[in-house]
Amino acid sequence: MPLDLHVFRTLSDNAGALIRDPATGACAAVDAPDAGQVLAEAKAKGWAITDIFVTHAHADHTQGVAALKRATGATVCGPADAAASAPLDRVVGEGDIVRLGGDDFEIWHTPGHAPGHLSFVSRSAKLAFVGDVVFVMGCGRVQPGQMAAMWTSLSRLMALPGDTRLLGGHDYTLSNARFAAAMEPANAVLAAKLAEAEAAKAEGHFWALTSVAEEAATNPFFRAGEAALAAAVGLAGAAPGDVFAALREAKNRF
Ligand SMILES: [Zn+2]
Repeated sequence: MPLDLHVFRTLSDNAGALIRDPATGACAAVDAPDAGQVLAEAKAKGWAITDIFVTHAHADHTQGVAALKRATGATVCGPADAAASAPLDRVVGEGDIVRLGGDDFEIWHTPGHAPGHLSFVSRSAKLAFVGDVVFVMGCGRVQPGQMAAMWTSLSRLMALPGDTRLLGGHDYTLSNARFAAAMEPANAVLAAKLAEAEAAKAEGHFWALTSVAEEAATNPFFRAGEAALAAAVGLAGAAPGDVFAALREAKNRF
C-alpha cells in the first residue's frame, strides 16, 4: 500500500510534511517548524505521529521538535549536529535505514547547505525528503567553501529514478522559476513552469513537491551539465560542478 503524504505551508514558506503507512498507522513528521501546526494537521487527518525525521539542524526545521515529541511521544531521528536543537532518540547518518511501516528510508548524508544535512530516500515509496538541498527549480544556499560538497549531494539525488518524488523544505518556487527562466530562456518546459509558478503564487497554492524528472527538465542546478547553462554563466566547456558553482553565485545576486 502506498504511503499517504500530506504537505502543507508552515511558518511563512517552510514545507510541513506528514507521511503515514495506512497498513500500520505509523506516521512521521518531516522536520517540525511549528509543533502546534504539525499537531493540528495530523489531528485533522486523524493521524497519530509516531516518528519525527529531522533533515538538518537549522532552527526553522527543528524549533518545534521538542514540543512535538512531548505531545506525541514520537521517536526522533536526525543528524548528530541537530542534537543541540532537537531531542534525538536516534542519531542517524549515511548508510543507516529508518523504517516507516512497510517502507525503508535510506539515510544519505547530503552536505553543502548544512554540515550534517540528511536526505531520507525511499526507493520502494519513490519518495525522498531532501530538506534544503533541492527546491522546485532551485537548490538551497551553500555554505562558504562547500560548493563541491553541494554538487556531490545534488548529483546523487539527480541520479534517482525520474519518478522519484522530491520534497524540499521551502516554497521558493516562483523566485527559483524566474531565475531558471533567465538562465535558460529557450527552455519551453521551463517557460510553462514559470507560468504555473506565477499562477500558484497568485492563488496562494503551496508548492514544494516535485520529481527528479521534472527537475531534470527545468532546474538549472540539475542542468549544470547542459551547454545552455554553461553558456549562460560564461563557462562554455567547463565541468558541470564549476557551472553549478557559478549558477549558485548568480542566483545569490539575482
Ligand atoms: Zn536550512
